[in-house]
Amino acid sequence: MFRDIVGRKNLIEQLISAVQAGRIPHAQLFWGPEGDQKLALALAYAQYINCRHKLYATDGHDLNGLSSDACGKCPSCIKFQRLVHPDLHFVYPNNINGGTIKKDSQSLDYIEQWRKLCLSTGAEFSYNEWVETMGIGNRQAIINVRDCSQILQDLSLKSSEADFRVIVIWLIEKLSPSTASTLLKTLEEPEPQTVFLLVSEKTDQILPTILSRLQMVKVPKVETPDLEKYLEKSGCDPQDSVLVASRSQGSLIEARLQLENNEMRQNFHRSFADWMRMCFRLDIAAIQSFSERMGTMGREQLKFFLENCMDELQGCLMTNNRCTQWLNASEEERSFWKNFSAYVSNQNIQQYYTLFNQAIFLVGRNIYAPALLTDMSLELCRIIAAANKELKRKNTR
Ligand SMILES: [Zn+2]
Repeated sequence: MFRDIVGRKNLIEQLISAVQAGRIPHAQLFWGPEGDQKLALALAYAQYINCRHKLYATDGHDLNGLSSDACGKCPSCIKFQRLVHPDLHFVYPNNINGGTIKKDSQSLDYIEQWRKLCLSTGAEFSYNEWVETMGIGNRQAIINVRDCSQILQDLSLKSSEADFRVIVIWLIEKLSPSTASTLLKTLEEPEPQTVFLLVSEKTDQILPTILSRLQMVKVPKVETPDLEKYLEKSGCDPQDSVLVASRSQGSLIEARLQLENNEMRQNFHRSFADWMRMCFRLDIAAIQSFSERMGTMGREQLKFFLENCMDELQGCLMTNNRCTQWLNASEEERSFWKNFSAYVSNQNIQQYYTLFNQAIFLVGRNIYAPALLTDMSLELCRIIAAANKELKRKNTR
């Protein structure tokens, strides 16, 4: 429903007033970058135009600041929400998976996976996630000829229940050019009471002949405060909400991934902080057990940790240079950077970076990681000790 969409109130009001005025375009393109709820918005719109008991704020309904929305309770709404309405048709990129589907695939073959993914993610997922869900390996997913003929077949049936038949085409830019003419004909000669809702992340890849027949609906980015509120509402810790919202720059997919990554990032931060403390204390026993423990991580994971360490060093440098206002960091990270930044300066940052860059390179070459980490630690002890000596010299002056 519209009230489940994060922010974008102006756009939703425009859609509502067009429906109220009886101006429902027969082909609309919801476009914008990945992670902006374009599909969710198209589905909310499809449900709204077919709802038999639309709600209005003027009747005292709380619609999350909107003037009108679908009821969510009538039989039409319930079927739309479960994505099982007989007048709701889906077309999306697909391909054979070699297992259950061997040749000439079509969207219908994957409808169960599609519904499941839509319902579990609030219809917010990336092309890559979809390809992974289908299990088609490295094959490119496209909208092919069988899908286009299926649309025609669906259209030849009379609308069974809904006021408007809805055909949702997700990622129209994946339409194979050879089949475009079939779709074009349908768009040119629209059937009555039929609405095409197309979704695109790359409008420059849509055939101009198709593009020219669509009414464009630009879906703007989610504003950071709206995203913050949404994350908090969905049970995210308030402090994490602020952090994740600012890091994900308005993308809901990014926010979801960030939430998953947040825990790992916190763990990496703690490991980095512990590591630097043991190097400061020249605690060889601790360094050895740290190297053994971290050395058993997978190669990719270790590379990721070392890259994260470089971000931490940058955080220290920024703290030193008093330009922290735009850094996306937790309180814990900031407070550590404030303390450790005394040992990171414009003079020695290059030594740190060289050390970490070289380590990342060597991990990629499959070096024995525990030994690498021990060597790195000794070098870190040296850099930190030198910085400490310099600090003491300055203080006694
Ligand atoms: Zn309804």
